[in-house]
Amino acid sequence: MDRGVVIVGAGQAGFQTALSLRNEGYAGKIALIDDEGRVPYARPPLSKAYLKGTATAESLEYRPAEFFVQQSLDLVLNDPAVEIDRGRQTVALRSGRELEWSSLVLATGAHVRRLPSLGKEPSYLRTFADSESLRSHLSGSGSLLAIGCGFIGLEAAAAARAQGKQVRVIGAEARLMGRAVSPFISAWFHALHERHGVEIQLNTAVQGVSETSAVLPDGTVETADTVVVGIGVIPNTELAAKANLAVSGGIVTDSYLRTTDPAIFAVGDCAMHPNVYAGGLTRIESVQNAADHARAVASTISGRPKEYRQVPWFWTEQFEAKLQIAGLAVEADETEVKGDPESGKFSVYSYKAGKLKFVESVNQPAAHIAARKLLEI
Ligand SMILES: Cc1cc2nc3c(=O)[nH]c(=O)nc-3n(C[C@H](O)[C@H](O)[C@H](O)COP(=O)(O)OP(=O)(O)OC[C@H]3O[C@@H](n4cnc5c(N)ncnc54)[C@H](O)[C@@H]3O)c2cc1C
Repeated sequence: MDRGVVIVGAGQAGFQTALSLRNEGYAGKIALIDDEGRVPYARPPLSKAYLKGTATAESLEYRPAEFFVQQSLDLVLNDPAVEIDRGRQTVALRSGRELEWSSLVLATGAHVRRLPSLGKEPSYLRTFADSESLRSHLSGSGSLLAIGCGFIGLEAAAAARAQGKQVRVIGAEARLMGRAVSPFISAWFHALHERHGVEIQLNTAVQGVSETSAVLPDGTVETADTVVVGIGVIPNTELAAKANLAVSGGIVTDSYLRTTDPAIFAVGDCAMHPNVYAGGLTRIESVQNAADHARAVASTISGRPKEYRQVPWFWTEQFEAKLQIAGLAVEADETEVKGDPESGKFSVYSYKAGKLKFVESVNQPAAHIAARKLLEI
């Protein structure tokens, strides 16, 4: 007898799993367990439109609360899963409630990596509550110091600059978004930020932070009215580890996103999965990865087993530039720039051993869509 599906985590991957199960015609019980106390919402605007004040809280929600009732989805708010019993196929919630399942989907996402705190905590940016708090801090501030030169730090910097704040970015790496983009794109975005008046300091690993300060390696203390830290995330794997599922830099899965227990799946930011584009096990933090994982798992649970093998893609928005990346960045041995970087519309094609590996398009959505097709394996 089918005891239903329990999905732990109601973010991008958890929500999409529930939605896709119903789209696949799955008619059994579905419970979606949340620990934030909010109807599932999109995170990307938290460092973009919502932070700038150009999006409302409601516009972030994937669907209104009534939708979950209409679809017979048991959305359990603010009651985290605390323990999985694999033998009895149940999961216990903090409230003491116990749910049974035939398939369990772990969609627990990730939490922010923190810096040593030297007093009151600075801002971090992962949840709606984080963005709301940063937005209110910023409204009374003249200056922002962003620690981290990845997507989150740079998007927060651009959002603050658009509101006329004085902005400084300090990053540990040698170039902007170093792990995810080509050197050409790093340099282009560096110039873009400087043109907009953002001050950038690279190769500087901040040692400690407070609400309004950061300590640099040489002991210098930098101050600003608001400090935001964006130095990466750590996957939420505790629940899986406690249930003796394999965990190694994420919850380990096979190509069907099954964990070491075939009735338990892991999807999205928390899943260390075999990825044909990475050529091995990897963990990817993106909307595409979370949503496509969810679709594959929903198909498998509905009786049509589906391996995960989608082309990875990602986007970021900073000032007037929308960057879309198809494929995974690697150290390339040949790059080709098409279009006109001066005009702000161009694409960079990166090759390794003669093979196209990834394509970065700035304000060229059609080139990005075409690139996804070109990269399909
Ligand atoms: C500010 C910001 C901007 C971003 N911008 C982009 C972008 O422009 N493009 C892009 O592709 N990606 C972007 N991302 C990344 C993208 O949002 C994530 O990759 C995506 O949300 C991952 O979805 P997920 O469901 O795996 O994890 P999450 O969205 O993190 O959801 C996991 C949920 O599970 C909950 N949870 C954890 N443990 C439990 C438990 N035991 N019980 C119940 N619930 C639990 C968590 O609290 C969370 O609510 C951004 C992320 C952030 C934070």
